[in-house]
Amino acid sequence: MSRLNEADRRPKLRRWVQETASPWLKRIGKPTWVRVVAAGGLLATGLDLAFPIRTTVPYATLVTARDGQILHAFLSRDDKWRMYAELNDITPALRDAILFKEDTYFRYHPGFNPVSLLRAAGRNLLNGRRTSGASTITMQTVRLLEPRPRTYASKLIELLRAVQLEIRLSKDEILQLYLNLIPYGGNIEGLKSASLLYFGKPPALLSLAELTTLTIIPNRPSSLRLGQNNARIVQERNRWLARFRSAGLYDDATIADALAEPLTAYRRAAPQLAPHLARRLRAEYPEVPVIRSSLYPAAQATAERLVQNYANRIRALNIHNAAVLVLDNRTHETVAYIGSADFANTLDGGQVDGVRAVRSPGSALKPLLYGLAFDGGQITPKTKLADVPTNFGGYAPSNYDQRFNGPVTAEFALANSLNIPAVALLNDIGTSTLVATMRKAGFSTVKKQARDLGLSMILGGCGVTLDEMTRLYAGFANGGVVTDGRLTPAAAGQQTAGSRILSAEAAYLIGHTLTQITRPDLPNNFDNSYHLPRIAWKTGTSYGRRDAWSIGYNQRYTIGVWVGNFSGVGVAELSGANTATPLLFQLFNALDYNAPSGWIRPPRTLAMRLICPETGDIPGDSCLNPITDYYLMGVSRHRYCQHRKPIWTNQTGTLAYCAHCRPDSGAVRRMYPNLAPNVLAFYQAQRIPVARIPPHNPACERVFGSGGPLITSPSEGSEYYINPRQPAELELSCQAPNDVETVFWYLNDKLYRKASPQEAVFFKPRPGALKISCADDRGRHTDLRILVRAE
Ligand SMILES: [Zn+2]
Ligand SMILES: [Zn+2]
Repeated sequence: MSRLNEADRRPKLRRWVQETASPWLKRIGKPTWVRVVAAGGLLATGLDLAFPIRTTVPYATLVTARDGQILHAFLSRDDKWRMYAELNDITPALRDAILFKEDTYFRYHPGFNPVSLLRAAGRNLLNGRRTSGASTITMQTVRLLEPRPRTYASKLIELLRAVQLEIRLSKDEILQLYLNLIPYGGNIEGLKSASLLYFGKPPALLSLAELTTLTIIPNRPSSLRLGQNNARIVQERNRWLARFRSAGLYDDATIADALAEPLTAYRRAAPQLAPHLARRLRAEYPEVPVIRSSLYPAAQATAERLVQNYANRIRALNIHNAAVLVLDNRTHETVAYIGSADFANTLDGGQVDGVRAVRSPGSALKPLLYGLAFDGGQITPKTKLADVPTNFGGYAPSNYDQRFNGPVTAEFALANSLNIPAVALLNDIGTSTLVATMRKAGFSTVKKQARDLGLSMILGGCGVTLDEMTRLYAGFANGGVVTDGRLTPAAAGQQTAGSRILSAEAAYLIGHTLTQITRPDLPNNFDNSYHLPRIAWKTGTSYGRRDAWSIGYNQRYTIGVWVGNFSGVGVAELSGANTATPLLFQLFNALDYNAPSGWIRPPRTLAMRLICPETGDIPGDSCLNPITDYYLMGVSRHRYCQHRKPIWTNQTGTLAYCAHCRPDSGAVRRMYPNLAPNVLAFYQAQRIPVARIPPHNPACERVFGSGGPLITSPSEGSEYYINPRQPAELELSCQAPNDVETVFWYLNDKLYRKASPQEAVFFKPRPGALKISCADDRGRHTDLRILVRAE
């Protein structure tokens, strides 16, 4: 029947109402007529309310890639493979076959087909047995929703329910519900599940032979089992294909192909790619039967394979796990998500999601700190920082290799991941600034730890996740704006919100520094023939060698790699450079081999200037050989270089004068290196000759107030426990300015020893409070207090 038929049925109905029904209704009186209709309506509504039909069923959750390809399937709450077929899964060919087989008049009947009901009733009377041929798709759907024993009473209820369903749902929705519920034996329900689990593809890709196969199983799901009774199924399939041909449903060539097609169905495992992300998304969208993720299916499969192979190789070193996150820098979408090397491996905690596990970052946060220092104006890439032993109020960090490099440029310090310059920068900028920036960038553990974080956080003394770290680095690639890593595809034109944590200039300088390849965190035995991707990257190794990080980016992708043991067991061979970087390089080479050779362009606001290479400051009068360096206009510190300072001395250079005591004649102006006490101490310890400023004129009467020696041992306020019978010796040491030759140590205001500033002095403490003072030969002094207790 066409729409035309429906249209001219209406005048007929109207005529019947006008000619027959109305006069009769008039006879029983208008009020009664109204009452009958109202009562009928009320009864129907009441019945519908009293016996609502439940059309929501628990579906198996499907997580798909961005292109709709199914990555992962979960059983439904009632342990069924009941996958939700969307309307676009139901192709015209499939719909035609189903309707032809099950319910030719589905489009036109009100839920039941009176003609076939009558025919079936007649047949039942003649044969004396019941047949079920009269069931429409709607009635079958009712039966699948609410199974009942096969009685005439049930049949009547089903019929009423069918009408109810027709009122509630459209024809397309009823067909969809039917296809989602039809049984395929065992716990497989619905055509989509059968299509995926027996043919390994979604319904839309089924051939005519395959879809015909799937339409005949539900009639006898227990005797026609795919993979077990394939020969019988082919027979049945071909019988129906012949009927399709007679009915002219498909063209002859298509039918001929389908008849010749072998049946290759077998029970496949449900897809299990991206298990960690799939779980994360299911928890986030519990009521959505088909969750579309942002993953690129090929990239996910490649990354999973690489991670698994890599984990197999390092297992011999007692390193068992790895996690990888790949982000698209343009769309901010997650491209690949690998939570562990092998989800199925319960022994090594394979089900832990390493992307979200809280771990120590080692040095991997340093680029952010340098970015903040660029933006704070404290440094430019060539600013000299002191990599020398330094005591930060009792905290004396050392480098990874236990060596010190002396004064180095900021970019060298970052590229080589030196610890002292990083701690010194953090000491300058303040942990609260770093923490606030990290909070802005979405670091949630740090937010909770905020109060307890000290200077050691820049060396790994805080908790971060691979998720957070990778998004941070994507922010460097993205000109300083960090966005939430999207797990689902962005809608067309949709902007992903982000927070600016660094200026574009600072972000560029980080990338510029981290692309340098003459650095120690290239993997050992790094083979030159190996394709080195053009990326900016930074490694991290946590305290105790528990975590190895390597996070890198180019214009297109940011990839974060974590390698370690979920158990927290440290391994001597583990390091960011040797354990995580090889996997990072493999991933870039596999996912982005043909990356365009261009690099992120410097922002136009980033300028160049001449600086003195000794300090990185603007060249002063005595600075030779200036070089160029980047700087942030109006931001970077504009300070004239004072790498050497003028000192007035006597003719022989054995006495120094200040403006106060300089004689009117005979004084000579000489240039001396202007070194911080800790750098001077480092040079002296290394026996590097440094021109010393001569001692100050002893006849000078000026009082020097500030700039006394810095006591480096012991630490202010510290407590010591000693054995009173055999007290261990405590060390007294200090760092003094260049013009100091002698220092005087006082214990509780009594002179203990006269020494050179570089000399370590020892004493045996006694229990009680102790005041320690160190004075220099110009009368400046520093005090501190410690407490000594008997054990
Ligand atoms: Zn200079
Ligand atoms: Zn003086």
